[in-house]
Amino acid sequence: MSDCLFCKIIDKKIPAKIVYEDDMVLAFEDINPQAPVHFLIIPKKHVPTILDVSDEDKNWLGHLFGVANKIAKEKGVSERGFRIVNNCNHESGQTVYHIHFHVLGGRHMAWPPG
Ligand code: 5GP
Ligand code: ZN
Repeated sequence: MSDCLFCKIIDKKIPAKIVYEDDMVLAFEDINPQAPVHFLIIPKKHVPTILDVSDEDKNWLGHLFGVANKIAKEKGVSERGFRIVNNCNHESGQTVYHIHFHVLGGRHMAWPPG
């Protein structure tokens, strides 16, 4: 989608620190990290929110979590623990409407979230 920030990152029209890429997903460092480890993982398909996910998305969706686990292990946070967050719509804090999963780790995290 031409006016989507994350589609522009996928198309390399906007630079990002990419940590993983394949034909289905892209992972890159968050520009404003909230933890020592904070990367985003997104499908290459433009899907605005988790509400827009359907059965036809199950391949990239399952794959995306496998890739998130792999990167968390590589970054050394898997044993300590990490958090995967998806914000959906405005009350959750979603600001970019290309579905993305935050992966945060490297510090203790409170519950409930703010
Ligand atoms: P949301 O608030 O929609 O759940 O998360 C959007 C995330 O995208 C935020 O954590 C924000 O820091 C990150 N972000 C926004 N613009 C950019 C950008 O241009 N590059 C990167 N790498 N991250 C961005
Ligand atoms: Zn997009």
